[in-house]
Amino acid sequence: MATIFSRIVAGEIPCYKVAEDERFFAFLDINPLAKGHTLVIPKQEVDYLFDLSDADLAAMQVFAKHIALAIGKAFPCRKVGQAVLGLEVPHAHIHLVPMQSEKDMLFSNPKLKLTDQEFQAVAAAIRAEL
Ligand code: AMP
Repeated sequence: MATIFSRIVAGEIPCYKVAEDERFFAFLDINPLAKGHTLVIPKQEVDYLFDLSDADLAAMQVFAKHIALAIGKAFPCRKVGQAVLGLEVPHAHIHLVPMQSEKDMLFSNPKLKLTDQEFQAVAAAIRAEL
């Protein structure tokens, strides 16, 4: 059975899309730690990030870099942090989170509740910086 993230890539489940190319896809995390929290995934269905080939992992990191730079412009912050957990969804993904301090990367923090309009605006703001 396809993962929820594969179903997002296929357009079967809605998302707030930020970017895609032939191999990778970026969309907003639905439970964001901060405005701009984005997930970068491979379209290839692989559970564990570190099971990707060296070439795919390197390409995914470069794709994530461009998204991170755009997030940083759209949502000014000290740096955009990157985290890999993958304990919930068995489809490899990189979290990109705008940070003002290291506490902003704590996944136990309460998540933001954004309206549909706010999510749309966040995604549009990042896309505008790509
Ligand atoms: P983890 O696998 O521990 O890295 O966590 C999975 C992340 O995916 C969590 O931050 C969720 O909020 C996020 N997530 C789960 N389902 C969706 C979805 N349908 N759209 C956007 N983000 C999602």
